[in-house]
Amino acid sequence: MTTQPFTSLPLAPRFLANLASLGYHGMTPIQAACLPPVLEGRDLIAQAKTGSGKTAAFGIGLLHKLNPAWFAIQGLVLCPTRELADQVANELRRLARGVGNIKILTLTGGVAMRPQIASLEHGAHIVVGTPGRLRDHLGRHTLDLSHVQTLVLDEADRMTDMGFYDEIAGIVSACPERRQTLLFSATYPDDIRYATAKFLRDPLEVAAESQHSAGQIEQRFYEVGFDGRDDAVARLLKHFQPVSALAFCNTKVHCRELAETLRAAGVSALALYGELEQQERDEILVLFANRSCSVLVATDVAARGLDIANLDVVINADISKDPEVHVHRIGRTGRAGETGLALSLCAPNEKKWVRLVEEYQKISVEWHRLDALGEQLEPAAPAPMVTLCISGGKKAKLRPGDILGALTGDAGLSKEQVGKINVTEFSSYVALERHAAHAAVAKLNDRSAPGPEFGVIKGRYFKMRFLEV
Ligand code: ADP
Ligand code: MG
Repeated sequence: MTTQPFTSLPLAPRFLANLASLGYHGMTPIQAACLPPVLEGRDLIAQAKTGSGKTAAFGIGLLHKLNPAWFAIQGLVLCPTRELADQVANELRRLARGVGNIKILTLTGGVAMRPQIASLEHGAHIVVGTPGRLRDHLGRHTLDLSHVQTLVLDEADRMTDMGFYDEIAGIVSACPERRQTLLFSATYPDDIRYATAKFLRDPLEVAAESQHSAGQIEQRFYEVGFDGRDDAVARLLKHFQPVSALAFCNTKVHCRELAETLRAAGVSALALYGELEQQERDEILVLFANRSCSVLVATDVAARGLDIANLDVVINADISKDPEVHVHRIGRTGRAGETGLALSLCAPNEKKWVRLVEEYQKISVEWHRLDALGEQLEPAAPAPMVTLCISGGKKAKLRPGDILGALTGDAGLSKEQVGKINVTEFSSYVALERHAAHAAVAKLNDRSAPGPEFGVIKGRYFKMRFLEV
């Protein structure tokens, strides 16, 4: 990871041995930048992306200073959420193995106060908690912060975005004035700089490089009311008329709702989200990849690992809370040297996530107006292809060449009118040019077929149906 060993730091041999046993052989860049000044006792503002090792960057400093024989809360870490607090506490416990018997307590909401109060009465060296719950304990006088020597604000940007400023200020004022304060953040916009300035004393600012390349992607942002998002997506699609667009929603419920709105507006759209049957999911992906469906509406989880080339447009129907995810989403357009287009809708409550994108990408986003798209929009063009599903696949010894042969022979289509052919175990999918497809496939049905839904391929009858989007 880096060339700097932990042994260059003034840490006890036991502590260093524990780091080695954790597989920490060298410092990450943010650790190398933070730890020397942290161990000297300086206040610090550190900015580095997720996964860069920020917890140990403050955790090692915090534990180094700790007196295990003194049962008082000497370290306090504030985190925005319960999950993050649990993560930090677990990482600190691993690091603390090199120090001795250290009691680390998490105090977060969503669980009863009483057991937390009992644990506090038993004493703890370090408390990791969320601002709301810590404030509640302070209000009941069940938490004594008067011996805190190290105060850490982890994920400070998220905590202030979540509106925790007042709680944080109250907690800080319950700590002694003489203390070390460390602020960690994935981003460090000016408003956080101003908001937190009075918590820190002559802080050193360090940052570790984290940029992904912005690439050849044109980003346009549109402000929209929360309830206007789905109609806005329809308008954007009618305006830009992409053949293939991927639209992201933050929830599965919104995914389904948006796909329905789009279909009602005449756009061929399908929703991809977790909990779909594997076969449904596979069919949706086939339809999208073979251009029978123009718009795939997906959640991040469902789209993960999805390898789809040639996306004309990526649309963010919801802005991601995580700028890294945003960059990942839009990176799906504009591949292979071509300029891509990313359209993002921003509801009023999502402005803060746009600011994170700006910080993360080091850009100022461009705002465009939806009403500038005009009132008279063309209807969305139908997807260029339709998919014929043939109930026979590898098991029936059907090969792509057989299907192509029947379609260009008896059905009378040209090679160019036949698109992608996917043959799976039990079925086959073939994309056909929309305007010619139905008439051509009808020709595969001859007089002696067992029913109107059958067609002949290589002298055998197969059930056939069009998959409607
Ligand atoms: P951040 O808070 O910056 O998102 P974390 O502190 O959660 O990152 O660390 C991310 C992961 O990297 C954790 O699993 C942690 O154990 C591991 N890690 C941290 N520092 C090192 C290191 N120096 N060497 C190896 N792994 C490390
Ligand atoms: Mg972290």
